[in-house]
Amino acid sequence: MAGKLIIYHGFKISMKDINQENTNLQDNLNIDQFLKTFENVAINHYGQEIFNKWFKDLTILILNDHEVILRAPSKFVRDWVRREYIENKSSKFCDIISSIKNKVKKISIIHDDSQNAIKTVSKKNNSTIANLSKHDNVFSFGTDLNNRYTFNSFVSCKYNKLALSMAKIASGLDIQTNLFDDKIPLFIHGGVGMGKTHLAQSIAWQLKENDKSKRIVYLSAEKFMFHFVKSIKSNDIMSFKEKMRSIDVLIVDDIQFIAGKESTQQEFMNCFNSLVEDNKQVVLVCDRDPSALENIDEKLKSRISGGMVINFKSPDFNDRITILKEKACALGQEISEEVINFIAQHVKTSVRDLEGALKKLIAEKLFLDEEITIQNTQKILNQYIVKSNSESPTISKIQKIVANFYNIKISDLSSSSRLRSISRPRQIAMYLSKNHTQESFPKIGEKFGGKNHATVIYSCKIIEKLLTKDLNLCNEIRNIEDKING
Ligand code: ADP
Ligand code: MG
Repeated sequence: MAGKLIIYHGFKISMKDINQENTNLQDNLNIDQFLKTFENVAINHYGQEIFNKWFKDLTILILNDHEVILRAPSKFVRDWVRREYIENKSSKFCDIISSIKNKVKKISIIHDDSQNAIKTVSKKNNSTIANLSKHDNVFSFGTDLNNRYTFNSFVSCKYNKLALSMAKIASGLDIQTNLFDDKIPLFIHGGVGMGKTHLAQSIAWQLKENDKSKRIVYLSAEKFMFHFVKSIKSNDIMSFKEKMRSIDVLIVDDIQFIAGKESTQQEFMNCFNSLVEDNKQVVLVCDRDPSALENIDEKLKSRISGGMVINFKSPDFNDRITILKEKACALGQEISEEVINFIAQHVKTSVRDLEGALKKLIAEKLFLDEEITIQNTQKILNQYIVKSNSESPTISKIQKIVANFYNIKISDLSSSSRLRSISRPRQIAMYLSKNHTQESFPKIGEKFGGKNHATVIYSCKIIEKLLTKDLNLCNEIRNIEDKING
């Protein structure tokens, strides 16, 4: 009988799979009885749907007087059955098993890939789970990558050297990959505007380049939460879980936004564990050290900091010079050494600000057709120099400035008015709040009269789109930004 496959009441049992030492002819008969009874009792207790979803495709590896070892068709099913049924007393799963075989002391479930026999019959027994990822685009909940954020455009200098090396290893660009047998989860943290998102997306681009079939998901923690909550509301949590576990590389940006949301954290931890266990690459990006994360479960904290933790320090003077020179060169502009030094000396806040300052200078030079000198640099860069010494703006400050600029009441920004003269400034204020503060989408929504975070995301998208074609709006927003930073 060895190797022969029996299909019995939806259970697939390969005789090859049955441990001969533990099983004799009598046991084989018992398997039939055992399965028949189990099917009846389980359907009666959990219902047909649950039975089909979780138990129908299990096979039996070992069944003897003391032990039952089940084999799952996937790691996902294994984890689920283990957590929700075998380890969860209230599910009564173990009671059901021991009511059928009362001496059984140990019930376990495994998954391995050597299930050739099962593959042969799987056509007939397509499980619900297997179908989910086929119909749903696994990338549909990832965020589009920015074309600009690649390794090519990432300036390498002292402050980001280690982060860059690790990112290259994670993306398979560096041959040192061979040094590590397993994929190491990366935790990249550092201040705002230092290049964390740029680096994280560079990894994603590179991995895509290496292997087009790789399922790479880049998303913010907010988006993870959004999809998780949405799947709960639409009763589609299984599909969400399955999707998250079926990806090859997961990159989650701004992980600090997961703070305080317990169920999202729990789900994130399950997903993280499952991917790491499957040797999939996980990259997390955060604005602070894992130990400084508040309202995050200690277990999750220690789990995410168990990988490679990389701190993006601030660029020093020489780093700033390197960045400015390379950026000017990439923009095809020649800027004098003196001006570069001046910017590097005065703009110390972030790479984003260095880039902003440089672009502003170049724009003025092109618009006004003036040479860039130290004198006009000083004048033009006033906002960045002031910003270095001042606190970052708040949502209330932004609302006040925007309301003032468009001559509307601050309360209008929190209203639900759809009048263009109100709704546009509201969208602008939301967009500026996202770009000039560290607040999350839900928090911004809350400050605009309790709007949904999806409304804030939509507003930001609208403004970003308009900025690519509406010159007047560009100018208005630049004026407002001058006031915010001034
Ligand atoms: P963070 O995610 O740390 O807040 P971003 O990755 O969004 O920062 O970077 C802010 C801006 O600075 C982006 O336009 C990015 O391209 C640029 N930037 C940051 N670091 C670098 C770098 N090392 N080389 C090139 N550009 C950089
Ligand atoms: Mg970022």
